[in-house]
Amino acid sequence: MLEHIKQRRYLIPFKAARLPQQFADVLVIGGGVAGLRAAIAAADDGADVLLLAKDTINQSNTWYAQGGIAAVLQPADSYESHVADTEKGGAGLCDHEAVEVVIKEGPQRVLELLEWGANFDKDPAKALGLAFTLEGGHSFARILHAYGDATGKELAQTLIRAVRGRESIRVSENTFVIDLITDENRCVGALALINDQVHLIWARQTILASGGAGQLYRESTNPKIATADGHAMAYRAGATLQDMEMVQFHPTTLYIAGSSRALITEAVRGEGAYLLDRNGKRFMPDYHPMAELAPRDVVSRSIVEQIRKTHFTHVYLDVRHLEPTHFRERFPQLAMLTDEFGIDITHDLIPVQPAAHYMIGGVDADLNGQSSFAGLYAVGEAGCSGLHGANRLGSNSLLEGLAFGARAGVHAARAVKQETIKFPQNLEHKVNPSVRTELDLSDIKSSLRSLMWRNVGIERTGDRLAETVEIVDFWSRYVMDKSFDPSQSREAAIAGWELQNMLTVCSLITAAARMRSESRGAHYRLDHPDRDDAHWRLHLLWRRSAADPIREPIRD
Ligand SMILES: Cc1cc2nc3c(=O)[nH]c(=O)nc-3n(C[C@H](O)[C@H](O)[C@H](O)COP(=O)(O)OP(=O)(O)OC[C@H]3O[C@@H](n4cnc5c(N)ncnc54)[C@H](O)[C@@H]3O)c2cc1C
Repeated sequence: MLEHIKQRRYLIPFKAARLPQQFADVLVIGGGVAGLRAAIAAADDGADVLLLAKDTINQSNTWYAQGGIAAVLQPADSYESHVADTEKGGAGLCDHEAVEVVIKEGPQRVLELLEWGANFDKDPAKALGLAFTLEGGHSFARILHAYGDATGKELAQTLIRAVRGRESIRVSENTFVIDLITDENRCVGALALINDQVHLIWARQTILASGGAGQLYRESTNPKIATADGHAMAYRAGATLQDMEMVQFHPTTLYIAGSSRALITEAVRGEGAYLLDRNGKRFMPDYHPMAELAPRDVVSRSIVEQIRKTHFTHVYLDVRHLEPTHFRERFPQLAMLTDEFGIDITHDLIPVQPAAHYMIGGVDADLNGQSSFAGLYAVGEAGCSGLHGANRLGSNSLLEGLAFGARAGVHAARAVKQETIKFPQNLEHKVNPSVRTELDLSDIKSSLRSLMWRNVGIERTGDRLAETVEIVDFWSRYVMDKSFDPSQSREAAIAGWELQNMLTVCSLITAAARMRSESRGAHYRLDHPDRDDAHWRLHLLWRRSAADPIREPIRD
């Protein structure tokens, strides 16, 4: 299994002594909520921190998050209720301790953001003078938001300000991390492309916060950066990846030819919007008692089913009955977007379709965000803490990024003080030159994304997954043997590495989805539509060094 993927340890050949070198106590890969929060925590605990982002710092899933951040901050709400909602959504795969950590520590992390100047929307009648809304799967209106539907941007800007205000954090944007460097079974830093040159960054502790994998699918809410680089480099380095079959699809993205698949936040349905089919029928009450506010996987699958039944390409969101001035104030970004396409929300329906949204699976991490590989932490979407189980509850991921980002930062900074690390200056790696053909990278990339959308998307079947394993394996044969040289073209090298990362993670998602012969949470098998606790209440763990995945039963 995964033969061509497993062959690669590093994507490029190198000799450590010949590369420009940098040093950091704590290297943070990623400038979204998890990486920024981790950097702040590590710096405040005395570490010298280097934070890298592959694009500018405003290109992250965090920046584009809309709906909000869930937190128990009102007297009538309770931790128990937020825990119960999260675990119900997680369909038997949540790690209870991780859920408790995020839900109990999350509110403190949110209050900290207020201290640092975050401007959440206000309601003088509510606790702390803040406005809270409801989202699917939550039994209490506990979602904070900022500037209506620009929560992520406000959160990111607040954290970026806090990072920039700390002298012991260096930030390097437009820096593509190619691989984690390992020596004697521990992570000792990373290889990164800065301008046109590969640099070697030695780090005593490394925190992977490289975000998600939405770009593996043709339809995705994620920005271009989300090519699962971190998942792939951690796998190559020897870390364990968990729950890779669990990919969450968002039910409602704008479906207009020529527009990006802009996400339409769940909060729109929270405020009362309906889903209608091409015949104007409100169909969600036929599928679930919570109708439009059913869990995301249920809504996504119901939309797919209704599209099939009505022989059409999409469905519609209906907000015509909502008060337009309030709607515009509450969802200014969406109002601007619909205006751009000449959709009058008081008369017209908004065309929508589901899209890949959130990578639930990731690098196996404990309650300090520490992976099973020494010297390496994984937080946010790159990690898998067990908070989301088999399905993520809306607005829980920003909270997770804050909670585990802070924990990992503190833990890494303390580990720096306790461990002595040798940086192996003599490290080198050879790659045999490929004898195979030149590649049209963008063609393979778009074929891969279409294949994943068709066969490893919202609905899966054993035969389609088996077919996908074969196709991805075939493409891997002539892509994974290549070594892309940035001195010839920076853009082409990055595109090549991204493709190699995408193939790696697509292989893992597909293999895991094929193996899990049941339906649970975000993973739905048409040929095994029922949840099977007797055989499948377990995590599938993937490690490059292991011939087969390890089955790890859930600890209650
Ligand atoms: C449109 C949208 C709306 C969302 N709405 C919500 C919401 O309302 N509430 C909620 O809780 N969650 C929401 N989410 C999910 C949430 O935004 C993400 O799960 C969360 O922000 C992930 O944070 P992160 O820090 O793990 O990763 P990201 O924010 O994605 O940051 C990843 C970082 O890693 C860097 N990186 C990646 N690869 C490399 C590489 N090779 N080299 C160097 N750097 C690299 C990137 O440059 C980036 O800085 C939404 C997501 C999207 C896409």
